[in-house]
Amino acid sequence: MSDTHLSADVLRGDLRRRTREMPKCEICYEDVDKVYTCKTCGTEFCVDCGDPKKKICILCIEDEEEEDEEEDEDEEVEEKPKKRR
Ligand SMILES: [Zn+2]
Ligand SMILES: [Zn+2]
Repeated sequence: MSDTHLSADVLRGDLRRRTREMPKCEICYEDVDKVYTCKTCGTEFCVDCGDPKKKICILCIEDEEEEDEEEDEDEEVEEKPKKRR
């Protein structure tokens, strides 16, 4: 008779433990094995939503790439020699 009560208790305990072990990505809201904290904005992101090696989320990666491209273009335009005689 106490068998039913016991199994229900175990089930609930198991469920709670699983929730605690599964961190949630703050970008896609998926439960994942592991999250990484973005060094720029502090968002906890999964491996699909950023670069774990650089510790940057996908939002901050886009910002960095844009800045780099703009700088390169500016330099090229200014140092371009004009034809002169
Ligand atoms: Zn994610
Ligand atoms: Zn970020």
